[in-house]
Amino acid sequence: MTDPYFAKVAVIGAGTMGNGIAQVFATTGSQVLLVDLDPSALERGFAAIEKSLARLVAKERISQTDADASLSRITRATALADITDEDLVVEAVVEKPEVKAAVFRELDQVCKKGALLATNTSSISITEIAAVTSRPENVIGMHFMNPVPIMKLVEVIRGHRTSDETTQAVMEGSRAIGKTPVEANDYPGFVSNRVLMPMINEAIFCLMEGVADRDGIDTVMKLGMAHPMGPLTLADLIGLDVCLDILEVLHQGLGDDKYRPCPLLRRMVAAGDLGRKSGRGFYTYE
Ligand code: NAD
Repeated sequence: MTDPYFAKVAVIGAGTMGNGIAQVFATTGSQVLLVDLDPSALERGFAAIEKSLARLVAKERISQTDADASLSRITRATALADITDEDLVVEAVVEKPEVKAAVFRELDQVCKKGALLATNTSSISITEIAAVTSRPENVIGMHFMNPVPIMKLVEVIRGHRTSDETTQAVMEGSRAIGKTPVEANDYPGFVSNRVLMPMINEAIFCLMEGVADRDGIDTVMKLGMAHPMGPLTLADLIGLDVCLDILEVLHQGLGDDKYRPCPLLRRMVAAGDLGRKSGRGFYTYE
């Protein structure tokens, strides 16, 4: 294996995205520190990586030796204070501005000088996140897609003061882990969610208003628009709480009521029906 672009990477948050990001860096040779404040979430995240690697071995996509070596490159921690000399940090905690701000304030304290601080935020302003640190030139958006080991895109988002050097390094580092990076500027939702979330929200309005039933809506978009999965299936995969949080950011950040979250989405999140991760959303899961 060639040397990884980033030798040492910390991933903050071991949830849906964090464990996938940790897996991708570990399988391409980086030493990875996976951090989650919640010890049970950390263990679930690590178990998800083990399971995902086992699947790749079963499909003969990687060898058992490579899977074992990848796992051995991942260290677990429950505090940001365990970060030492990582070259890149990718934050993937919940999509709440105040939580991300607290994480970046602490990262600014614990990370070495010159470390690149990336956020996997789906919609929060990179500029605002960067502004809580003393090094906005090193802060950037690195927006992976779900499921991370499979999806090729990384949307690389420059904040107002992100440097050319930081952008260049993250573009190259993304290519080195087998992804295709696309540069975007810092406006709410960037490109991906600015276009995707209004479609998902509209699908939920269609369901709420009885325009068609769940399967009908998903089938129209699959067969009629050649989408690989319907918008309600996709919302379950992303997580309904994550969809709601992103729509709130679009609504507030762009100030246009066309982004108002559908009341049915709010009701489902309040009920704890969050999609795949809770076992129930628009569909039910084993
Ligand atoms: P998730 O809820 O599955 O995981 C979040 C994890 O962060 C949890 O394990 C939680 O314990 C942990 N956490 C919370 N506060 C923390 C803190 N202060 N320090 C350390 N860990 C903390 O969420 P997710 O779906 O993985 O989303 C993470 C980020 O990725 C969000 O910003 C989201 O918008 C973005 N994102 C999500 C998707 C998706 O499809 N789910 C796609 C692209 C980007």
